[in-house]
Amino acid sequence: MCCNDEIRKNFTYQNLDIDLSLVKDLKFFDPHIHMVSRTTDDYQAMADAGIVAIIEPAFWLGQPRTGLDSFRDYYSSLIGWERFRASQFGIKHYCTIGLNSREANNEPLAEQVMELLPRVIYKEGVVGIGEIGFDDQTKAEEKYYRLQLELAKTASLPVQVHTPHRDKKQGTTKSMKIALEHGLDPGMVIIDHNNEETVKEVLDLGFWAAFTIYPFTKMGNERMVEIVKKYGSERIMINSAADWGISDPLAVPKTAALMILKGISLPDVEKVTYRNAISAFGQSGMINEADFSTPAEIDQSASYQKNTILRGGQQPRIDKSSIVIS
Ligand SMILES: [Zn+2]
Repeated sequence: MCCNDEIRKNFTYQNLDIDLSLVKDLKFFDPHIHMVSRTTDDYQAMADAGIVAIIEPAFWLGQPRTGLDSFRDYYSSLIGWERFRASQFGIKHYCTIGLNSREANNEPLAEQVMELLPRVIYKEGVVGIGEIGFDDQTKAEEKYYRLQLELAKTASLPVQVHTPHRDKKQGTTKSMKIALEHGLDPGMVIIDHNNEETVKEVLDLGFWAAFTIYPFTKMGNERMVEIVKKYGSERIMINSAADWGISDPLAVPKTAALMILKGISLPDVEKVTYRNAISAFGQSGMINEADFSTPAEIDQSASYQKNTILRGGQQPRIDKSSIVIS
C-alpha cells in the first residue's frame, strides 16, 4: 500500500469522523509553519496529505537568544538547510525573515539584528518580512515593528504580522493603524492569528486575514468553517503555525476536509487553503507556482553542504505501511 493511502485514512476530530480522501485531489499551501521544530515524519505526513508548499516565518525559539550569531545561523537555516530538507519530501519551502516581537524587547541585541536584516531579506526564497508585530505591546516592540515596516517598504516585500494572544483585538487594531501610518498598502500586509473578533475590521480595511488553527484552544477548525461561511473566501487564508508547542502540521488539509463536509464550495476551499497565500506572498516575486503545481522528482540521496536527510546506509523514502523498522 502506498503511504498516501495510509495517511489519508479516516481520522477523528472532536468526535467527527473526517475522511482525508475528501481532499485527495487538492493541493495545499501552509503559509505559516515552523519546520525547524518538526521532524522528517511531519514532512512525510504533510506531503502525503497534499501540502506542496509552505512558508516558515522567523520567530522565537522558545528561549531567548543571547547573541547575534544565533539569529544569523537561524536565518541561514531557514534559507538553506530547511529549504533543502523540505525539498527532500517534494515540498517547496519559503520563509519570511524578521525580528520577532518578543525579542524586540532586548534592545541591544535588536539593534544588531536590524543591521543584519538587510543582508538576509533579499536572498532567494524570502517572500516577506515576518513574523513581526506585538507580543506584550511594549514601546520596544512598537519601535522595531515600525522599523521593519519601513524595511518591508524599501524592499517591496509583503509583511506577515503576528498579532498578540493577550489583548488581541486592541493589538490587531494598533498593528493595522501603524502599518497604514507608515504608508503600507494593506494588500501587502497579512494579519495573522485572527479570530471572530478581529476578522471584520481586518477585511474592511483591505488587509489579508490569516487564521491559525490551534488544536484544543482558541481557533478550532469548526469555528473556521463558520467564519468562511460568514465572510467568504476573499483575502482569507488558514495556516497551522505548527511549532515546538502543541500544534498540528496537518491543520490545513484537515480543515479543508471539514469545510467540504460542511458544504463549503470547492473553489472557496481552494482559495483559503492554497490560492490566496500564493496571491498575497507571490507579490514578493519569489513564488513560481510551476515549482510545486506538478509533483517533483525527489532524490533523497541528494546532499546540502555534504549533509543528507539519510542516516548511514538508509534507503530513501520510508515505507510507512510496514511496522518493521529495518
Ligand atoms: Zn509563528
